[in-house]
Amino acid sequence: MLDLRDIHLTHVARSRGDFPRDGRPQICFAGRSNVGKSSLLNTLVGRPGVARTSKTPGRTREIHFFLVADRCYFVDLPGYGYARVSRQMRRRWGNLVEAYLSDNDSLRLMVVILDIRHDPSEDDLDLIAWLEDRGIAYALALTKSDKVSGSVAARQHRRILDLIGAQEASRKQGGPPDLRRAIRFSAKTGEGRPELLQTILAVLHGLPAMGQPTLERLS
Ligand code: GDP
Repeated sequence: MLDLRDIHLTHVARSRGDFPRDGRPQICFAGRSNVGKSSLLNTLVGRPGVARTSKTPGRTREIHFFLVADRCYFVDLPGYGYARVSRQMRRRWGNLVEAYLSDNDSLRLMVVILDIRHDPSEDDLDLIAWLEDRGIAYALALTKSDKVSGSVAARQHRRILDLIGAQEASRKQGGPPDLRRAIRFSAKTGEGRPELLQTILAVLHGLPAMGQPTLERLS
């Protein structure tokens, strides 16, 4: 098992030269600012305060690398699409993140974090398209599920998958993408934590992710 409490911030990257190059596998977390990314990370590892919120000054310009149990990195990308950041800031986000995402053999999984209450933004869809184009494995975490009733959560879950599926189907000639890896998550109730952990462990062990909520199981 991976001891998630054994987690340390080891690299704060502001440019390409700051990225770790030790070949340990990396699990990356991305989402728009305020989506609940730091809450998700803190809940996942069971240690409040490990990841810092997008509101922390400087956070939009840094990638944080956490070494977990000396085995792998959890990588906290800066939140994107923050209304208050300048265009220059957005460009910098893009440059740093692009430098990280391209030319990265260690990246095993991107957890794309979406607020279950909202449709994916253009930035979210761009990121997903980018991951699809490069064949980078990703899982969707639909946060703040405690803020809606079970039936609304189920409806939004399906709608979000449909919107992403529609984008991918129109971009590609092939069949619909594999969208089974969408996990409803709540930092408040802990919903989805076991499934997300299982997905991460499966990726680290090179196994197919099991027990994911599938479209068939949505109701
Ligand atoms: P970040 O900017 O993406 O890191 O977002 P934060 O983790 O700082 O969360 C933004 C706000 O949403 C904070 O006020 C959190 O308390 C709240 N929040 C995050 N996740 C959840 C959740 O699962 N349930 C509820 N009810 N609130 C959440």
